[in-house]
Amino acid sequence: MKCYYDLHIHSCLSPCGSMDMTPNNIVNMAKLLGLSAIALTDHNTVHNCEALIKVGQREDICVVPGMELTTSEEIHIVCLFPTLEDAKSFCDYVSEHQIKIKNRADIYGRQVIMDSDDNEISELENLLVMATDISIMNVAELAESYNGIAFPAHIDRSSMSILSVLGEISESYNFSTVELADITQKEKWISAHPILKNMNIITNCDAHYLEHMKEAENFFELDEITPKAIIEKLKNRI
Ligand SMILES: [Zn+2]
Ligand SMILES: [Zn+2]
Repeated sequence: MKCYYDLHIHSCLSPCGSMDMTPNNIVNMAKLLGLSAIALTDHNTVHNCEALIKVGQREDICVVPGMELTTSEEIHIVCLFPTLEDAKSFCDYVSEHQIKIKNRADIYGRQVIMDSDDNEISELENLLVMATDISIMNVAELAESYNGIAFPAHIDRSSMSILSVLGEISESYNFSTVELADITQKEKWISAHPILKNMNIITNCDAHYLEHMKEAENFFELDEITPKAIIEKLKNRI
């Protein structure tokens, strides 16, 4: 069956995410847009995934728990997990490996954890967007050890991307998938970086605001629409 996906979305827990990015608003918008599966990928945290998964179950949208990790090189990597438990364990590891600086909500924005009825439960104190001491060199292996997958985010952007920081994607990083912000330029990036030829190249909305979520367009053919099946698909090189 066709699984229309968007695997990079932020909630009100990301300081840069709109307060309108509540669990119910995200899932209902995904439904309106015709998506079958979405991933919640707040910066360096998974604490809104539980609420989103619950809303997803009510509304029949598959929610993949994940996060957008900031590596020590200041590169954004999307990490996805088959279960909430795996995502939480990975998140515990990441919290222990992150620079701790108190968030200034007046400058950076609030970091709100919600329940599945969009009630505010709590607010995270430490600024989530700070870098971790996890290197790009072992992030794929690390995510894999929690049964997940890691892929470089928006590699075509001029900041916080693997190509803007390192200029290349080394085979030794073991990525099977990359994300392009502008998929129409896919061929251009493949000719500049032939390593991309046998990798899955996907695009996601990276929305921080509801109005930036995109209409369902990209899909995988899957036997079943589950986080596990999506992760398996992304792990297999083409
Ligand atoms: Zn990013
Ligand atoms: Zn993002």
